Amino acid sequence: MPRILDGNRVRDEIKAELKPRIAALTARGRAPGLAVVLAGHNPASEIYVRNKIKACHDLGIHSESITPPQTITTAELLAIVAGLNARTEIDGILVQLPLPPQVDTKRILLAVSPEKDVDGFHPCNVGNLVASLPGPRACTPAGIIELLKRNQIQIAGKRAVVVGRSDIVGKPVAMLLLHEHATVTMCHSKTPDLPAVCREGDILVAAIGRAAMITANYIRPGAAVIDVGTNYINARDQAAAIFRNSAEKLAAFDKKGSVLVGDVDPIDVAERASAYSPVPGGVGPLTIAMLMVNTVASAERRLGVC
Ligand code: NAP
Repeated sequence: MPRILDGNRVRDEIKAELKPRIAALTARGRAPGLAVVLAGHNPASEIYVRNKIKACHDLGIHSESITPPQTITTAELLAIVAGLNARTEIDGILVQLPLPPQVDTKRILLAVSPEKDVDGFHPCNVGNLVASLPGPRACTPAGIIELLKRNQIQIAGKRAVVVGRSDIVGKPVAMLLLHEHATVTMCHSKTPDLPAVCREGDILVAAIGRAAMITANYIRPGAAVIDVGTNYINARDQAAAIFRNSAEKLAAFDKKGSVLVGDVDPIDVAERASAYSPVPGGVGPLTIAMLMVNTVASAERRLGVC
């Protein structure tokens, strides 16, 4: 039986480790502070932000959400970010993406002070990642490394294949795996014979955004497979095909009208991998946990604790 890489368990471990660090900071004068900027209305973003604020609340991290209207301009959002950069009690600033279409996203992300960039998206922090210098790492990639390490999956000396080259997942996770001494191959939509390349991976990371695309012929027998994908399936026949007509999954689909599926075929991976992260309950819970880690680490740096 393959091992299931339980993201909820690892998230709880990470949160438990943060508690004394937060208590120590609070005892020195103030709790760490996170500001989340949510511009306009996007139902998915609203859920993500709610979950981030809740995680702060559970841990005793001060949090604020700033919710400018859908019509906000780039200049107005730059002014909000500048205000947050200047506030001493705010250690982390997160600008929830996507921003309304009229806003220049790159200018906004560049405006966030690198020392408060808890998403790790600022070019300074991307540079820190590449150069292996201290600084916040992008949350989902950092969570993937935690999931592997805390499940004693060996990375050093292994072949790692990453499918997807986005700035928020594919590129940073490839760099982190390289720093952990894996031999890393990055793949994308133009990679020829993708299944054969994927089968070289002792560790296979799928960050594609295509439901159940990674089927048995992409998976090396015994590989550790990390599924980053979050795809909502609304078509019952597609859900039935992916879950091989599982009565339990179809009942859940019928109740909600949709089902969450990763980028990896859930039945094939269970048959071929030695370990895999499920969707849901794998990588997802770690993204917010690592945001909390980055916020606490930023507060410690800014208060001179570490
Ligand atoms: P993205 O920016 O859309 O990037 C997708 C990548 O997949 C691109 O590099 C693309 O290649 C590649 N790709 C697309 N189709 C492909 C194909 N047929 N064969 C090979 N490569 C292909 O997506 P993302 O932001 O990295 O997110 C990826 C998935 O992870 C999404 O489902 C997203 O919802 C999920 N996600 C989850 C979390 C979490 O916390 N669990 C966090 C972030 C993202 P090209 O570059 O050539 O176009």
